[in-house]
Amino acid sequence: MLQKRFVFTFETLQSYFYSSSAFIYYVLKEKQYVGFATLPNQVHRKSVKKGFDFTLMVAGESGMGKSTLVNSLFLTDLYKDRKLLNAEERINQTVEIIKHTVDIEEKGVKLKLTIVDTPGFGDAVNNNECWKPITDYIDQQFEQYFRDESGLNRKNIQDNRVHCCLYFIPPFGHGCMKALHEKVNIIPLIAKADCLTPNEIKKLKDRIREEIDKFGIKVYQFPECDSDEDEEFKQLDKELKECTPFAVIGSNTVVEARGQRVRGRLYPWGIVEVENQSHCDFVKLRNMLIRSHMHDLKDVTCDVHYENYRAQCIQEMTSKLTQDNRMESPIPILSTPDVETEKLIKMKDEELKRMQEMLNKMQQQMHDKDQ
Ligand code: GDP
Repeated sequence: MLQKRFVFTFETLQSYFYSSSAFIYYVLKEKQYVGFATLPNQVHRKSVKKGFDFTLMVAGESGMGKSTLVNSLFLTDLYKDRKLLNAEERINQTVEIIKHTVDIEEKGVKLKLTIVDTPGFGDAVNNNECWKPITDYIDQQFEQYFRDESGLNRKNIQDNRVHCCLYFIPPFGHGCMKALHEKVNIIPLIAKADCLTPNEIKKLKDRIREEIDKFGIKVYQFPECDSDEDEEFKQLDKELKECTPFAVIGSNTVVEARGQRVRGRLYPWGIVEVENQSHCDFVKLRNMLIRSHMHDLKDVTCDVHYENYRAQCIQEMTSKLTQDNRMESPIPILSTPDVETEKLIKMKDEELKRMQEMLNKMQQQMHDKDQ
């Protein structure tokens, strides 16, 4: 009797669910489908609605083709208002940081692209200090994010951290990336690759790779390809890894080649096509940067470079606090402090208290994150 009543109840329930929610009915019937398979779609929809942002830094001497390459990559004209300096002005110029922001939309997907340009970099006679404004800029963005993250309104933090730095190595020389490598994902490029023969490109690539190894420079490492990926994907991944540093060519003009209009450079002896894979690695760079690895570049920025900065900051704050505490505690009071001193001590105490609270909060956040 009891069993019958139960069956009745269950069936009623089942038909009720069936009519009210096909989803739950499905769960009851199939017992395997919970529904989280739709999560990627949900994330996709939310991300598309929100839009994406990406901050790309370009570093290299003036005239290396940085702006032309950025225009070629994103099919924009980011530099139309740029003032070109003459040789004398370039020698005296200090490194500036200039930000260009552009909103790009493709098939309904929005990308807010910020290009951080570093004019003046490597142009002076003595370039020992030319890295400083760049490293300072990267640190400032980390600092701002750190402050925002530790503040009260953590919901709408504007992320201006630099996700990637395209470092332009002259076709006839070499570069030094060591000052940046702990702070940002560096992607080394051989600029103006049309100045070199295929053989020269190969030799230069080998030399740059050797120097990267020899001096322990940490350039951006492509993530390992999963073993269950299909063969075609694995092959593409292998080619991408073997191709670095990318030898690139840029152009702001469209020319006619093989009956088609293409982005290229017209010389008396022929046409160099930016997107022709037998001419240069532009397409590989673009695919990597925009289609396959943009997300990973952001992840590495957040999980490695920013985390390093954050850990260092917390360590510095902790040691400062301990030092301050040590200095302040057991000093014997020989005379009664005057009103002014007392006021100062009180202010200092409050400051210490605030710092301690901030530190506790951050440690708690780190702890929560680890959990
Ligand atoms: P930036 O100062 O590094 O931004 O350099 P620009 O993009 O303004 O380029 C400087 C000059 O180099 C211009 O005359 C460009 O047309 C030229 N240029 C840019 N890219 C290439 C390239 O890939 N190959 C060659 N041969 N010239 C280039």
